[in-house]
Amino acid sequence: MTNNLQEKMFYEMEQKAIFEQAKGYAFDYADTALGRNVFPTDEAIGDLDQFIEEMPEFTFDSGDILRQLHQYGSPATVSQIGGRYFGLVNGGVIPVSLATRWLSDFWDQNTPLYLSSPIVSKLEEVTELWLKQLLGLPKSVVAGFVSGSSMAIFCGLAAARYRIFQNNDWDINNKGFDGAPKIRIVIGRQAHGTVVKAIALLGFGIDNIEWMETDAEGRVNLSAVPELDASTILLLQAGNVNSGSFDAIDEICDKAKSANAWVHIDGAFGLWAAGSSRLKHLTIGIEKADSWSLDGHKTLNTPYDNGILLCKDKEALVQALQASGSYIVYTDNRDGMMYTPEMSRRARVVELWATLKYLGKAGVDELVFGLHERAVQMGKELKAEGFEILNDVVFNQVLVACDSEEITTRTIETIQKSGECWVGGTTWLGKAVIRISICSWATTEADISRSVRAFVSARDKVTEN
Ligand SMILES: *Cc1c(COP(=O)(O)O)cnc(C)c1O
Repeated sequence: MTNNLQEKMFYEMEQKAIFEQAKGYAFDYADTALGRNVFPTDEAIGDLDQFIEEMPEFTFDSGDILRQLHQYGSPATVSQIGGRYFGLVNGGVIPVSLATRWLSDFWDQNTPLYLSSPIVSKLEEVTELWLKQLLGLPKSVVAGFVSGSSMAIFCGLAAARYRIFQNNDWDINNKGFDGAPKIRIVIGRQAHGTVVKAIALLGFGIDNIEWMETDAEGRVNLSAVPELDASTILLLQAGNVNSGSFDAIDEICDKAKSANAWVHIDGAFGLWAAGSSRLKHLTIGIEKADSWSLDGHKTLNTPYDNGILLCKDKEALVQALQASGSYIVYTDNRDGMMYTPEMSRRARVVELWATLKYLGKAGVDELVFGLHERAVQMGKELKAEGFEILNDVVFNQVLVACDSEEITTRTIETIQKSGECWVGGTTWLGKAVIRISICSWATTEADISRSVRAFVSARDKVTEN
């Protein structure tokens, strides 16, 4: 059938056999991924050479493509859907969020405009409202559904840049930086790398950053904040990527607001604390900021490619991300591209909406607090085994050290190789440490205890030799 590609594709759409095949593989993956090594074995990684080949001259068999992907691809994945992956700040995937994503993949909606997808426009409108209510943010807030926090931070800072220049009688969109008034960028010493990236991308210049010092938990306290003014963009953090700590948001926002500065809060994983009755105290005052960034794909456990930008100043955001073209027809309904840097975009709000609807407010609370409880358990059990816990476990992050940096580093490598769980390393207060992030709904108390045993046996192995 290589001479009639279109016919072949119609056939595959009608027969659905390849989708059944994919479903079979996916279910096989779901059944086996939890029991195997968290990180792929050396053999699985070696088998990746199967993918090194010339691009085929002619159309290839769909079933064979799927077979190759499952046979050699699935074993070389990192098992992140299970409960013992503690690297990065990842999050697992809630079943219904995955299922609704599957369905919406069949829709293949492009989502810039209401006229390109009324259903997505409606779900964005509803989800925007739910998020504001859940996090306790003002009515005027608008949401942009973007790929992740990297892009959400970029958009928040773009809106800030537009507004702060506008307040200083400068139209940055038309005039650019040449001859522009000076704008100040103030961030914490422990701001996430993607904050610094956004600052560079937006042309502010990393050398122009005014750094605020952080305390032993990695927090910015009020005393570290310089005098602010109406030409300042200030970035705060809800959830330090190492320690999980929160800046002194309430007090600092008060100071920034009285100076007419713009405040953006990077809350990639930590802002969800606002949805937990027992952790809400960490996020007091967030409603005073101007923009916020967070991820569905972290704490909320949606599939990846799910970031959210929230902004109180709709005009600034829309102007910053301005989009026009004679064929673009805006309507009175929600046109998503006004709030995102992209034009074409997949329907990522579907799984976010589904996850919020599935969990409900009580479920979000249970999920978020559950991650915290597991982190506290991890800290306690490791401490009882003689590991040093370096941070105050206020959220879902635990920082751990062994007796020496060398033992710590080698213990990390040994844990990673064991396949029992996966943790990474980081530098904390100048020292090499183990960094644990509890962010999957699938992590159980038993997973924590099993992982602690893997820590102990890894350290034993390291110190024996
Ligand atoms: C993960 C993270 C980011 C970057 O988010 P992505 O979704 O990976 O782009 C930014 N800030 C913090 C605090 C994070 O944890």
